Amino acid sequence: MKNNPVNTDLPLFCPREGCVCYQSYDNKITKDGIYITKSDMVPRQMFYCHGGGHRFSETGYSELFGKHGSFKEYEQAAKLSTYGISANATADVLGRDVRTVEQWQKALGSKGQQLHYFLCLHIGINVLFLQMDELWSYFKNKSRQLWVFIALESETKFWVSFELGSRTICTACRLVKGLRRLGKWGDDHILKVTTDKSAAYKNALANIMGDIQYAYLQIVKRRVKRRLVTVKKFFVKGMAEDFSEKLRTPPLLRD
Ligand SMILES: [Zn+2]
Repeated sequence: MKNNPVNTDLPLFCPREGCVCYQSYDNKITKDGIYITKSDMVPRQMFYCHGGGHRFSETGYSELFGKHGSFKEYEQAAKLSTYGISANATADVLGRDVRTVEQWQKALGSKGQQLHYFLCLHIGINVLFLQMDELWSYFKNKSRQLWVFIALESETKFWVSFELGSRTICTACRLVKGLRRLGKWGDDHILKVTTDKSAAYKNALANIMGDIQYAYLQIVKRRVKRRLVTVKKFFVKGMAEDFSEKLRTPPLLRD
């Protein structure tokens, strides 16, 4: 995941469900002129599907088709969302109706997920050091708490997977199940795993990753007024040597 250039070029394929060549690589797709939309001055590309004998546009059959924004606006909406800016605030900044922005966010989320699956499953990820953590959050108001369980690659902080739910073993199990599908684990090495001291992860790992080789370390951090006071380590599975190279303990996320 360092600076290895990865070839992500793929042959174009037809995105129209129902076409005889839908998603087939065994087909010819060529550029077929450009067009301008009302909402974007940047020209968009048209394509021609030779096998199915039809044209389709650059956004055709995608979540962003006919969403009345420019690519620039989609990019801005996506970036603002990642900074935690609300749909209302984004709509205000972009001078758009909030319902429009909400539609964009939904479409962008779905596109983002597709890209994530592409990265994980097509390019492939090789996670050597997995870190799992949970963030407290809420849904609509603070009395309805909702935990965000996340799994990251420890060196790069690449988000492998996440899961929403209560702070229970069920949510941890869903997280581990979900991430297991996204890569190859412990094939030629021992997978390193760190979490906080929660029984949920221990059980989830034993249940779902039981057949692969992993070493598991729990790290307990105690803070006083946000200042890190002590860090304790518990080797649940494996030994200190398994973690000897580059084991770092700075907090990835604020508690
Ligand atoms: Zn087609």
